Amino acid sequence: MPAYDPNNIFAKILRGEIPSIKVYEDSDTLVIMDIMPQADGHVLVLPRAPSRSLLDADPAIFKPLFETVQVIARAVQQAFGAEGVLVKQFNEEAAGQTVFHLHVHVVPRKAGEALRPHSGKMADMTLLARHAEMIKQALNSPQT
Ligand code: AMP
Repeated sequence: MPAYDPNNIFAKILRGEIPSIKVYEDSDTLVIMDIMPQADGHVLVLPRAPSRSLLDADPAIFKPLFETVQVIARAVQQAFGAEGVLVKQFNEEAAGQTVFHLHVHVVPRKAGEALRPHSGKMADMTLLARHAEMIKQALNSPQT
């Protein structure tokens, strides 16, 4: 497996070197809007600790990472009135990974609504910012 590249785009986002639309952060994780969302409310949960994928990650990061995934999954479900939430994660290019810093996709889902393509079309940034606000509101007043 290739070494972790500290100049991958998510490492730069984590260091604040390039912009992102942030939804939530704590000492272990950062949550941002996916700029090519497969559905409205598609976010990415990034552990701050560097690893390419799940394969080379320190297992100690999984607890805080998936605690954030759960909190965010509930928030996107609430914010978008979703019936379900897709949680997915790719490891290496052959599995569909395109950015080589471990991240978990969290996507609100409604029955019968088709997913848009993975890494498809860039979203309107104003709309993404509005969606981020909806998720933050749900985080601030959880119904579960
Ligand atoms: P993957 O590595 O296959 O899990 O996918 C990487 C995801 O990151 C894709 O869904 C992209 O739309 C998304 N993405 C790529 N660049 C950025 C960025 N600068 N900010 C937010 N999301 C991004």
